[in-house]
Amino acid sequence: MHTKKSTSTDAIPSFFTSVSRNFNEAAKYTEHPKGLLDQINTCNSVYHFTFPIRKGKGEYEVIQAWRVEHSHHKLPTKGGFRYADNVHADEVMAMAALMTYKCAVVSIPFGGAKGGVKVNTKNYSVEQLESITRRFTAELIHKNFIGPGIDVPAPDYGTSAREMSWMADTYQAFHPNSVDAAACVTGKPISQHGIQGRKEATGRGVYFACREACKIEEDMKVLGLSKGLDGKTVVVQGLGNVGYHSAKYLAEDGAKLIGLIEIEGAIYNPDGFDLDDVVRHRQETGSILNYPGAKNIENSNDALELECDILVPCALENQITHLNAHNINAKIIAEGANGPTTPEAEEILLEKGTLIIPDVYCNAGGVVVSYFEWLKNLSHVRFGRLGRRFAESTNQQLLQAIEVSSGVKFPEEVVKKIARGPDEGDLVDSGLEDTMIMAYRETHGMWTQYDKKISQRTAAFINSINKIAQSYLDLGIFP
Ligand code: GLU
Repeated sequence: MHTKKSTSTDAIPSFFTSVSRNFNEAAKYTEHPKGLLDQINTCNSVYHFTFPIRKGKGEYEVIQAWRVEHSHHKLPTKGGFRYADNVHADEVMAMAALMTYKCAVVSIPFGGAKGGVKVNTKNYSVEQLESITRRFTAELIHKNFIGPGIDVPAPDYGTSAREMSWMADTYQAFHPNSVDAAACVTGKPISQHGIQGRKEATGRGVYFACREACKIEEDMKVLGLSKGLDGKTVVVQGLGNVGYHSAKYLAEDGAKLIGLIEIEGAIYNPDGFDLDDVVRHRQETGSILNYPGAKNIENSNDALELECDILVPCALENQITHLNAHNINAKIIAEGANGPTTPEAEEILLEKGTLIIPDVYCNAGGVVVSYFEWLKNLSHVRFGRLGRRFAESTNQQLLQAIEVSSGVKFPEEVVKKIARGPDEGDLVDSGLEDTMIMAYRETHGMWTQYDKKISQRTAAFINSINKIAQSYLDLGIFP
């Protein structure tokens, strides 16, 4: 591990400032008029609201919440709702902006939004969390900040399918005659109009992103790595939904999980971990530490500096800053979280030759599958419902025709695998894979256009800005 520490104690800039800085860096490579760039960069609507909840007999607490709709160039706006006790306006604005750029990078027809409720979920019972969720959903309805064609929330840090089903149910109660009400929020449980694969989507997308990046021999050569994921050493920060699934799919494709980082500490084993066994250990003991055969790293931050091929930060923003960037020993950083690397840190890392797969592309899998869920809700039919059996019987007839003409009988498992028609899960996965492949090619194309002298983040932002600008120009707002 390097020991050179940054001597600067400068404060870390605000998250929205960092996102704007990334935006401005990319805007330099475009020729759009300043007014149009300003319109893209700014947050269109910032709604801060407070509401009381009853905590006990005669006891109340006032809760603060935000919903930010960053860009209305495409509707609905889209983005998660975060529950955390350090949520504040700047953070929600930054993440709403990231959602706009992210949707454009992966060509999803939404503007960006984000919400935050300032609560530590550990301090509330399930009943209290339900009443908080239902109460603020009512606030959003009153202010027209939610609706299938207006603004569509989804899960984020501290929320899950459970909260989404409470939101959908509340919205439905206020709109009893709306057949499209279920499309007011995504990430719902499957039984509540959700979609197969949404829970895994962000992590699965991170895996596809890493796989695409590692496929390009020339880029791997520059990093001193071989092509492909097989045998690559991986350190994952955060074993929540995104971190867990990123780690799972990377390991399934041959990568080796050598470091796992959580709030209470981290564990390291150069021989690799069995992810599910570590999760079981953490559930049983209440900590990731003291996993048999692994080295404990008591300070989670230190573990970010472990030597590895791919570091996958899947926790919160501002994890890699100018204070620790010099000591990062990863060849590739795949940003599963939103904003884990500050622009100052990125400068340092780029100088060191680190390849950063940026959040606006890398963690877009969640919103991609949210888009599929929204489409499913609006079309009122499960993907594959109409065509699955037809595809299956066509495939079967094809195989039989080959068998008859060749005289060779296919083994039963082969017939089963090839002949089966795609179900919802297959189609969602295929749509996600295709989206992540195409967006990587597009980002890589722009990166190559500038001889890879700019960051992949800047390349992704240039594409994103161009697409959003085109949308405004086609509206005739900016002649
Ligand atoms: N919260 C997720 C994100 O940051 C998903 C947003 C969505 O599905 O709308 O991308």
